[in-house]
Amino acid sequence: MSMTVTHDILIVGGGGAGLRAAIAAAEHSAGLSIALVSKVYPMRSHTVSAEGGAAGVMREEDSLDQHARDTIFGSDFLADQDAVEALVQEAPRELIQLEHWGCPWSRDPDGRISVRAFGGMSVDRTLYASDKTGFHMLHSLFQTSLKYDNIVRYDECFVTSLLIDDGKVQGVAFVNLFSGRVQAIHAKVVIMCTGGCGRVFPFTTNAAIKTGDGMALAYRAGAPMKDMEFVQYHPTGLPGTGILITEASRGEGGWLCNKDGYRYLQDYGLGPPTETPVHRKMELGPRDILSRCFVQEDQKGRTFEGPHGSYVHLDLRHLGEKLIDQKLPFVRELTRNYVGIDPVVEPIPVRPVVHYMMGGIHTDIDAKTPLDGLYAAGEVACVSINGANRLGSNSLTECLVFGARAGRAAAEYALDQPAPATNPVEALASDEQRRLDAQFFRKEGGTENVADIREAMQQTMEEGAGIYRDEARMQQTCNDLRELRERFANIRIEDRNDIFNTERIGALELDYMLEVAEVIANSALLRRESRGSHTRTDHPERDDANFLKHSLAYRTETGPRIEYAPVSITRWQPEERKY
Ligand SMILES: Cc1cc2nc3c(=O)[nH]c(=O)nc-3n(C[C@H](O)[C@H](O)[C@H](O)COP(=O)(O)OP(=O)(O)OC[C@H]3O[C@@H](n4cnc5c(N)ncnc54)[C@H](O)[C@@H]3O)c2cc1C
Repeated sequence: MSMTVTHDILIVGGGGAGLRAAIAAAEHSAGLSIALVSKVYPMRSHTVSAEGGAAGVMREEDSLDQHARDTIFGSDFLADQDAVEALVQEAPRELIQLEHWGCPWSRDPDGRISVRAFGGMSVDRTLYASDKTGFHMLHSLFQTSLKYDNIVRYDECFVTSLLIDDGKVQGVAFVNLFSGRVQAIHAKVVIMCTGGCGRVFPFTTNAAIKTGDGMALAYRAGAPMKDMEFVQYHPTGLPGTGILITEASRGEGGWLCNKDGYRYLQDYGLGPPTETPVHRKMELGPRDILSRCFVQEDQKGRTFEGPHGSYVHLDLRHLGEKLIDQKLPFVRELTRNYVGIDPVVEPIPVRPVVHYMMGGIHTDIDAKTPLDGLYAAGEVACVSINGANRLGSNSLTECLVFGARAGRAAAEYALDQPAPATNPVEALASDEQRRLDAQFFRKEGGTENVADIREAMQQTMEEGAGIYRDEARMQQTCNDLRELRERFANIRIEDRNDIFNTERIGALELDYMLEVAEVIANSALLRRESRGSHTRTDHPERDDANFLKHSLAYRTETGPRIEYAPVSITRWQPEERKY
C-alpha cells in the first residue's frame, strides 16, 4: 500500500460531464486542487462516439419554452420541470462557450451555426459538428482542461470503491491498471461522472467500458438510484455489433422501411409520410415509440430475418451522395466498414439497440446526492431532465450544463470544509486492498466463468427488461439475477499478472453490472404502468394517479428496496402524450 494523496475535489470520469465539471471547479477557485480519475485515457470516454449533436435554442423561431415543453412531453411528464428549465436556459451559453474553446460547430452558408432536426423536437435545434459531434466536443473540453495547473489527472486508474467515514464520502480507492496497485485518494468531495451501463444488455450502442461502475459504487455506499426502470432503446443500431447509426440520418430525411419497402411508421399513428422530415412525425418520432413500432412490425412478419435476428431498412439513397458526404460522412464510413454497405446506393440494415439510461444516481438540481460529500453529473446521474424517455441530443447538453453545475457546487462545498485532523482514508484503503485480494486478485479456487455469467445476465435482461415487459418475465429476471449473484461469488480468475490484467477488470465490471441490473429489473417490476420507455403488456396505460413519481432504489442485503418521490412540476400539467 502506497501513501495516500489528498485533493480538495475528486472527479471520477473523464468524459463530457467529468471534464466540464473539472473546468468549472478549476475556474471557480485556482486554490482548489482537483483530481480527475478515469479508467481510460479521457479522450477514449464514450462521449467521443456521440454523432448527432447537442440541443440548445439558437434561432429566433425557437424558444426556451418550446425546448422545455418538447423535453417534458418527450419524458412522458416524469422529468423534473425545474431541472429542465435550468437545462434549456443554460444550454445556449454552454454551447457557444464550447465553440470559444475550440469546438467547430457546422455552419450555414450565411455564417450562422447550423441546427438540424432531431426526434421529438418541434423545431430544428440540434447543433452539430458534422456527424462527429462527440469527438469534437470531448476534444475541446480535454484541451481546455489542460490549461489548468490545478487539475491533476490519474489516467487508467479504475475506481473500486467510495471511502466513507463518519457518514461522509472521504475519497476513493482505485487500482492503478498499469501497476495493479491499490491506491487511495483523500478528497473533501467526490463528483461521480462515470457514464451509463448499456453493457448489461446484449445489444447496445455503448462502448465496452460502459458497465455502470459509478452507479454501483454510489448505490453500495448508500445513495439511492432513481428511475432505473427507464432504459432507452435507439431504433437504429447495426445488427450484430449494435453500432449506432445516428438519428441525424433521419433528421436529414432518411426513411425506415419494412421488407416490402414500405414506410411502416405511417401505420402507427405517426403518418402521413412526407418527402422531407416533419417534426415529431414518422421517422422523427421519439425513440421509445419507434422502437415499439419495430417490435410490432416484427410480430406481423414484415421485417427481414438475418443472422443477428430481425431488422428493417434505413434508406438514405434519396438524400444523394453530396448531402451524405457533407452531413453524414461517419454513417457512410461505419456502414462501409462494418456491414459492407454504401448508403448512397443501398439501404442500411438496422434494429433497436439499448442506448441510454434515463435513470441514475439521484441528485438535486445542483448535482448533489443525498450522500454527504457526493455529487454526480452526466449519464450516471438522474437529475432528472429525461424522465421516462430522453430526447436525442439533450444528453451532450446535459453533460455541459450539469457538469458545470456540479463543478461549481462541489467547489463551494469543498471551500466550506475544514481540513480533516486525521486522514481516515489510509485504513479504509487497506481494507479495500484486502477485499480486492480475497474476491478478485488473489482469489483461490472457484469454478464459474466470468463471461458465462455476463452472457446469462445480458440474456435475462433482454428477456425480462427489454422493450416490452410483463410481471412474470420480469420476476423471472429478478430471480435469475439473484442466482447469478450467487454464482458470481464462485468465479475463477486465473491470470495473476498485475499489469493491465483484463481478466480482473472484466470481473470487477461484472460485479457492478450485476448490481445495476438488479436495480433495473426490480424497479421495473414494481412500476405497474406504461410510461415512456417502460412498456408493460399487463399494464398498458400510463397511470398518473399512482405512478407520476420517481422510483428510488436503496440497497439492502436481500436486494433493492424501492421508495417513491414526487416529480417537480412547474408550468406544464401532465396531458396525454400524442404525436
Ligand atoms: C454511440 C453513441 C452516440 C451518442 N450520440 C449522442 C448525440 O448525438 N447527442 C447526445 O446528446 N447524446 C448522445 N449520446 C449519449 C451521450 O453521448 C452520453 O450520454 C454522454 O456522452 C455521457 O457522458 P458522460 O461524461 O456522462 O460519460 P462517458 O463519456 O461515458 O464517460 C465516463 C467516464 O467515466 C470513467 N469511468 C467509468 N467507470 C470508471 C471507474 N470504475 N473508475 C474510473 N473511471 C471510470 C470512464 O473512463 C470515462 O472517462 C450517444 C451515446 C452513444 C453511446
